[in-house]
Amino acid sequence: MTGLVPYVNDNVASRDFKYYIFDWDDNILHMPTKILMEHRDADGEWRPVELSTSTFALVRGDAEHYRPPSEGGWDAAFRCFADPERDGEPNHFIEDTMDALRRVADGEKPSPSYATFKKTLVEGRIFAIVTARGHAPETIERAVRLFIEYALTPLERETMMSNLRGYRRWLDKVEDFGTDDEELDYYLGMCRYSAVTYDGFRERMANDPIYREKLAVATTASRPELAKEFAIRDFVEHVFHMLQRTGGLGRSVAIGFSDDDKGNVKSVSNYIKAELSRRFDGIKFVVYDTSDKSLSKGRKVCVSGQMNLPGF
Ligand SMILES: [Mg+2]
Repeated sequence: MTGLVPYVNDNVASRDFKYYIFDWDDNILHMPTKILMEHRDADGEWRPVELSTSTFALVRGDAEHYRPPSEGGWDAAFRCFADPERDGEPNHFIEDTMDALRRVADGEKPSPSYATFKKTLVEGRIFAIVTARGHAPETIERAVRLFIEYALTPLERETMMSNLRGYRRWLDKVEDFGTDDEELDYYLGMCRYSAVTYDGFRERMANDPIYREKLAVATTASRPELAKEFAIRDFVEHVFHMLQRTGGLGRSVAIGFSDDDKGNVKSVSNYIKAELSRRFDGIKFVVYDTSDKSLSKGRKVCVSGQMNLPGF
């Protein structure tokens, strides 16, 4: 303990309720994971190519020149984006997260939402990771723990713990705090980790009466966006119920969403305007397009819901 940070930060009680939903790849971290596709060359032949996620985000609508491998289809294209099939095999997501964190530590320019994610953690705010990847929630949580370990300074981690205890005292009326590990487990357990091509996620979506219908009429291309919608609704409902339980609904509540894929940004903005802002009219929604790498925090593209809060 440095003595600079109080053990419990009671000032969290005067804060607004701000929550964030983050896409992971090229939004929080530049992951080196490659997508295995085929490209139609000038001679008309399809040949294998390995694409970075940022290139894929740009060309994924270009069916004339890009297609998933003729053998294995989309599962084969994204096989590095899922957990290994057998225990003991290396997990690409964990290895690539370490690699990406190391590059930032070595001076590489971080992704647009890296700083916001870090601030979210230090402030102890609830967040969701929503990604097109196919990992189990536990895998993504493990990567978040690596982020806490390597991207935060010791003082920032101490501040995070102080804020987490502040929320526990204020909202859960806890006085007997657990160890740091226990309080961190509790916090990370309140957050959501949705990899929308993970089997467990797909199952949950297929069992939802509304999304079962939406899926039945969706085109293949619009399915990933629909899945992101479902994950976002899930998180907003989670936040809403939590606020209901703790009596926090009388305050300003804002939920931010950031993604570097323009297709996702557009469909999520439409979804917020058409459905979420109507259903949750006490919540303000803010969408950030982080596709332009020259902007440090992305561009605010959609604001829907209640009054403007400072800082958003
Ligand atoms: Mg992305």
